[in-house]
Amino acid sequence: MRMTAAVMYEQGLPAPFAQSRPFRIEEVELEGPGEGEVLVEIRGAGLCHSDLSVVEGLRKRPLPIVGGHEGAGIVREVGRGVTECQPGDHVAMAAVAGCGKCRTCVSGRPGLCQAVSGARNEGLLATGARRLRLLDGGRLNHYSGISVYAQYAVVVPQALVKLPKDVPFDVGALFGCAVVTGAGAVFNSAKVRQGASVAVIGLGGVGLTAVMAAREAGASKIIGIDVLPGKFDLARAVGATDCVDARDPHVVQQVLDLTDGGVDFAFEVSGNLSALEMAQKITVRGGEVVGVGLGKATATFTVAHLPWVAEEKVLRGSMMGGGVPQDDIPRYADLYLRGRLPVDRLRSDHIGFDQLNEGFDLLHGGGVVRQILLPHGA
Ligand SMILES: [Zn+2]
Ligand SMILES: [Zn+2]
Repeated sequence: MRMTAAVMYEQGLPAPFAQSRPFRIEEVELEGPGEGEVLVEIRGAGLCHSDLSVVEGLRKRPLPIVGGHEGAGIVREVGRGVTECQPGDHVAMAAVAGCGKCRTCVSGRPGLCQAVSGARNEGLLATGARRLRLLDGGRLNHYSGISVYAQYAVVVPQALVKLPKDVPFDVGALFGCAVVTGAGAVFNSAKVRQGASVAVIGLGGVGLTAVMAAREAGASKIIGIDVLPGKFDLARAVGATDCVDARDPHVVQQVLDLTDGGVDFAFEVSGNLSALEMAQKITVRGGEVVGVGLGKATATFTVAHLPWVAEEKVLRGSMMGGGVPQDDIPRYADLYLRGRLPVDRLRSDHIGFDQLNEGFDLLHGGGVVRQILLPHGA
């Protein structure tokens, strides 16, 4: 079928993106669904910081590519052999679909599956197929096996999680990345316990979800840290007990004072190396630094050897929530519907394709949390 999509031909174009236009809005061809594939009509897609880092070229992707890895929609058609879903189902789309068979998938960690990451890095679906095509017949790649900056997507059923129909699409879109990543970091990776103290560095969609999840887990102190104090009101409204300006030269001391020597868990969500350094300094002896934000592919950081051992600090990576989206997302959707994970608060604006590049300027400026692209208009 022919559909409208946002195609990236080049990474690393400079801001302002409204001028350099990393995404070209154009008609493309979508084929399928083939065997073991599903056609989804996209009803909402989030603009995430990792999309921004792909725009900026921090991690290389095969080009041209249709962007977007966080979305929700309606199943319209299933290919042969698909039993997991049927036309009419409402679904969130998760980029961490595993193969379901390898060692890491069987152990409940599909986000670490290497069998599908190869195909994903080559711009293919997990089936090895490429269903997107440019109108002139040229090759067009899938992003994260999903590509939701489009009116439709063909994906494997492992990338879909059924949503209750009372979750609106513009909220459901957030479950596949922001919510699963932020809540999973707290519930699955760190296993934050009742009464623990928590800091969250970077109050975007993922960070604010981590704040909500920490509150749900019963954390006694939840300190939100960001370079933009404009985000603090929202952070407090969803569970932060304290907020600290990351640019304050005494930020580390402030957190130590607030927590009698440091937090039990410091979540680094911004993907920034100096923030990761700060996370190590604000963590109490025996505490945990949880890295959630993805950095540059070549970046490295140092850990002071002696204190790491002698203070029994844990450095933990958490990739997209470290769980199984098919198990976790229904639980988070239930928490949302009961008002305990108010992720609808993350929505900033609804935008159309014509505002997508500008939307990345706003995300780059940091003043917005989650803008939602509506590929079929309002
Ligand atoms: Zn994301
Ligand atoms: Zn696997």
